[in-house]
Amino acid sequence: MFDYLIVGAGFAGSVLAERLANGSGKKVLICDKRPHIAGNAYDYYNDDGILIHKYGPHIFHTNSADVFEYLGRFTEWREYQHRVLASVDGMLVPIPINLDTINKLYGLNLNAHEVQDFFDKVREKRETLRTSEDVVLNAVGKELYEKFFKNYTRKQWGLDPSELDASVTARVPTRTNRDDRYFTDIFQAMPKHGYTRMFEKMLDSPNIKIMLNCDYREIVKEIDFREMVYTGPVDSFFNHCYGKLPYRSLEFKHETHDTEVFQSAPVVNYPNDQAYTRITEFKYLTGQTHKKTGVVYEYPQAEGDPYYPIPRQENATIYAKYKALADIQTNVHFVGRLATYKYYNMDQIVAQALTQYGKIAGMKRKEAGTLKAKTASPMVYQNGNGNGNGNKSLTALS
Ligand SMILES: Cc1cc2nc3c(=O)[nH]c(=O)nc-3n(C[C@H](O)[C@H](O)[C@H](O)COP(=O)(O)OP(=O)(O)OC[C@H]3O[C@@H](n4cnc5c(N)ncnc54)[C@H](O)[C@@H]3O)c2cc1C
Repeated sequence: MFDYLIVGAGFAGSVLAERLANGSGKKVLICDKRPHIAGNAYDYYNDDGILIHKYGPHIFHTNSADVFEYLGRFTEWREYQHRVLASVDGMLVPIPINLDTINKLYGLNLNAHEVQDFFDKVREKRETLRTSEDVVLNAVGKELYEKFFKNYTRKQWGLDPSELDASVTARVPTRTNRDDRYFTDIFQAMPKHGYTRMFEKMLDSPNIKIMLNCDYREIVKEIDFREMVYTGPVDSFFNHCYGKLPYRSLEFKHETHDTEVFQSAPVVNYPNDQAYTRITEFKYLTGQTHKKTGVVYEYPQAEGDPYYPIPRQENATIYAKYKALADIQTNVHFVGRLATYKYYNMDQIVAQALTQYGKIAGMKRKEAGTLKAKTASPMVYQNGNGNGNGNKSLTALS
C-alpha cells in the first residue's frame, strides 16, 4: 500500500516524492514512462564520455533563495553564466541585444546614451501589446525584429509572431551596456555532477520506490495508493475529452566532434538560415574537460514529445475546461508544466511543487522545503550590473 502514486519523475514529481517521503514520512511510488528519471532535465555521459543533455540545454537560474537552497541539498553547484550569440548578416553578435550588438551590426561606435537614442528612434510605439509582434516592434522596431525575431519565431513555433500571445515575449530585454549574459537572475549555476546525479540523491529514500519504462495506466488499477500526483499532460489524463491540447515539439540531433572547441559560445542561434534554431556545445555548460566535444542541433517540429504548450487564446480556452475537471478531482494533484499547460522554467516548477507540498502537509510555503536531511551551504552568486531582466526572449526560448 502506497500513500502516493506519483506520475512523472521530472522536477515536479521528484520534488514532491522527496518532500512527501522525507518531510512527511509517506510511502511513495514514482513512475515514469521514460527509461530514466529527471524528466526533460536528464543528462548522461555519451559513448565518448561527454556529459550531454538529452532533451536540449538546461541552464539553472533563479531569483529564489529558497529554491536554490532546497536543490543545494542534493548537489554541489558550479558557477555558470550563460551566454548566447546570434548569427545575423554573416556575423555572430550577442543576444539579448546590447550595445555591442548594435555597434557590430551597423559598424557604429555608439556609447550607452547614444544607443538608447538609437532604440528610441527605431522602436515602433504601440498602445496595446496584443501579440508577440506588437511586443517586439514596440521594443526594437521593424529592422531588428526582422533580423532577430521574426523568422526564429516562425521556425520555433510554426506561427508568425502576429499569431502568438504577447505573453511569449512579455518583454524584450535590450541593454544599453555591454552585459552579454543571457540571464540576470541572482543565482545562476549548474549542478556540479549533472542533473541526473542530483535527482538520484533526491529520490534516494527508503520511502520511495521508482518504476521506469512504466506508463501509469499500466499499473494504476493494480496498485493500492491513497492519492495521486500527476505531472503528465492534463488532456491525456482526461482521455482528450475536450480535444487535444497542441504542443510544439523538437527533434534533437546530437553530434560528437573530434576537436576540443566547436563554436565560440555555449549557444549560437540561427534566426534566419538553417532548419535548426540553435546549436549548443555542452562543455561550456558542464565545465567538463575532454579532447572531443558534444553539440546538439534543435529542429522544431509539429509532432513528437510535448515540449512547449502553445500560448494562444483558443488553447487557453480548452485548457480552462480541463482545469475545471482537474479542480474537482478529490485525490489527484496536478503539478508541473504538462499538467498545468504552461511553459515554466525548472526553478518555477520546483517552487510550484514545494507550494503544493505545503498545501498537502498544511504548511506555509516557506516551511515546505524544510527537512531533517543535511543542509549544504548554498553558494550565492551575486547579480552583475546588468540592466536587462531574466525574461525569455523570442529568439532564444530555452
Ligand atoms: C528544450 C528545452 C530546454 C529547456 N531549457 C531550460 C533551461 O535552460 N532552464 C530552465 O529553467 N528550464 C528549461 N526548460 C524547462 C524544463 O525542462 C521544465 O521546467 C521542467 O522539465 C519541468 O519539469 P516537469 O516535472 O513539470 O516536467 P518533465 O520534466 O517534462 O517531467 C514530466 C515527466 O512525466 C512523464 N510522464 C508523462 N506522462 C506519463 C505517463 N502517462 N506515465 C508515466 N510518466 C509520464 C514524462 O515522461 C516526464 O519524464 C527547458 C525545456 C525544454 C523542452
